[in-house]
Amino acid sequence: MSQITPQPGILEIAPYKGGESRIEGVADAIKLSSNENPFGPPPAAVEAARAAAARMHRYPPTDHAALREAIAETHGLEAARITCGVGSDEIISLLCQCYAGPGTEVIHTEHGFSMYRISALAAGATPVEVPERARHTDVDAILAAVTPATRLVFVANPNNPTGTMIPEAEMTRLAEGLPGHVLLVLDGAYAEYVDGFDGGAALVDTRENVVMTRTFSKLYGLGGLRVGWGYAPEAITEVLNRVRGPFNLSTIALAAAQAAVRDRPFVERCAADNARLRDWLRDALEAHGVACDPSHANFVLARFADASEADACDAFLRQEGLIVRRVAGYGLPECLRITVGDESACRRVAHAIGRFKAEAA
Ligand code: PMP
Repeated sequence: MSQITPQPGILEIAPYKGGESRIEGVADAIKLSSNENPFGPPPAAVEAARAAAARMHRYPPTDHAALREAIAETHGLEAARITCGVGSDEIISLLCQCYAGPGTEVIHTEHGFSMYRISALAAGATPVEVPERARHTDVDAILAAVTPATRLVFVANPNNPTGTMIPEAEMTRLAEGLPGHVLLVLDGAYAEYVDGFDGGAALVDTRENVVMTRTFSKLYGLGGLRVGWGYAPEAITEVLNRVRGPFNLSTIALAAAQAAVRDRPFVERCAADNARLRDWLRDALEAHGVACDPSHANFVLARFADASEADACDAFLRQEGLIVRRVAGYGLPECLRITVGDESACRRVAHAIGRFKAEAA
């Protein structure tokens, strides 16, 4: 037997499963499984990426200064406290690497994003799952789960895959209730979809133990380029930058993200369309007898009677060339997560689910 063994915890990781993108034998399947922007990337970002391609023989800057400046200006933040990563996944991973490890605990919520558990285990820490209340983050349950070994608490607001959100006052109560040795990570991957919401930036500004993560993969339409960022107190930013790979973001990714963050008309149009189509989709599903919590993100979580009805609906949708996301791995076997597509995709998926329910009745 080989004596080459990975670090403790690694073999407990169930590999991440992304949203499927193909159906055998279907050429033009509609992908509603990965919460991507159905309107594509901002044209200005495509143009910037094209121009940057001519410079691909050069190493990219290590300090990401221009992108950090663009993000800071847009969001009214301090550029020096922004760290850019290969998706917000990398910021999550860096936080675990820097602040958790063997003998420590990392809290995430019951239906929380799977990278929290994966990154905690990869760092040798113990992930601790805390119950939600009817698919909503439960601040009291989180506070009750904190021990002297807790180092990090991950909360996505809005949450994936539930689409639910807790009010800012609850986020503040959580930050204030945590002991000083615990870092609260507010994951704002879907914050842009909530009108007027800062993702938790103000809490980062006023406290020493709060970090916010954000992404270019959703509203900004750059999932394939892999750009995310974190906003943290100075001391934490300084720690993350010691561990971050100096050339983690490519020349092309940096240029495209910088153009995307400055293209406000594009993102405002996408956010408005998403809100309109999301509410339409939820109403249509409810009218077909499929329950959905009000969503604050770019997807809805459709709840069926049980796991077998959800599986049957998924199979029916695939026959129709529609790919949605099963979320049994998130403790929601009776649900399907459906990304809000463009208008025609929303109509197609709602209509198909209506026919599925009618045929089953
Ligand atoms: N957080 C949440 C809640 C997510 O849903 C996702 C993407 N699925 C991420 C973080 C990571 O996104 P990215 O690495 O593309 O920035």
